[in-house]
Amino acid sequence: MKTLRQPDAIRAACRAAAATGRLGFVPTMGALHEGHLSLVRRARAECDTVAVSIFVNPLQFGPQEDLDAYPRPEAQDAELLRGARADLLLLLREADMYPAGFATAIRQDGSTALYEGHARPGHFEGVLTVVAKLLNLVAPARAYFGRKDYQQTVVVRRMVTDLDMPTEIVVCDTVRDADGLALSSRNAYLSADERRAGLSLVAALARAEELFEQGERSGPRLAAELRRVLTEGVGREPDYAAVVAPDDLAARDVVQAGDVALVAAPVGPARLLDNHVLGTPLRHPPHEA
Ligand code: AMP
Repeated sequence: MKTLRQPDAIRAACRAAAATGRLGFVPTMGALHEGHLSLVRRARAECDTVAVSIFVNPLQFGPQEDLDAYPRPEAQDAELLRGARADLLLLLREADMYPAGFATAIRQDGSTALYEGHARPGHFEGVLTVVAKLLNLVAPARAYFGRKDYQQTVVVRRMVTDLDMPTEIVVCDTVRDADGLALSSRNAYLSADERRAGLSLVAALARAEELFEQGERSGPRLAAELRRVLTEGVGREPDYAAVVAPDDLAARDVVQAGDVALVAAPVGPARLLDNHVLGTPLRHPPHEA
């Protein structure tokens, strides 16, 4: 695995790789876990060269958020990526991504004002700006994202379509711990008790799936049940609990298979989010060694 830091060197290596085969790209903020590695493995299976970026993007953090505290275990991340057979590790620095004079941002209408966008003003502008920059720099045939951040996959797909970006967006299943908690770099912030409270996110989603399977099709009733299970489990009001259309995240009155239950809640010092596509099994895949 080659580690590259300079944008010019990254561009040159990625152009060379794309000239001889299919280049796959996995953008991350590091503190890697099996969720990230599942994207790398999928890219490995589908592409000739796999590039993974690590960049904790300040633009997508709010002023009161955990930018400084965000974990940055660089050596461990590199080891995990070597194990997953990534070819290129792209370690970007803020001074190279946003040099003095940087003045452009990508704004998107629609769902960016809702859910995560409502809870984190400016978040998606930061996400879209960095993803656009990374896709321009790396120019991959395919870029891999996790369904764990469902709304992110929707707004990234929208941008790529709207701006005629030639990269294919591939969305991969959420990887969960054995107890069902969706893996997240921020789970590291949780105490044992908080982790147990965090399990109410997956319990709420499992309950919604159970009701859906029993024939419940009312969006408001399913959303109310999500909210009830979450509030009880977390001991606080969730940030949101909704059942939405998969493509534009419009709230559903009458729910159908393929619609998505979205939940987010503050748990201890963290904010946890999760989601579930209704009508599909809520799987806890075993981790690969
Ligand atoms: P992050 O480092 O949090 O920006 O995440 C980088 C990528 O990994 C994003 O596309 C996430 O959706 C994805 N990801 C994070 N957690 C998981 C998970 N538990 N399962 C699958 N993908 C994930």
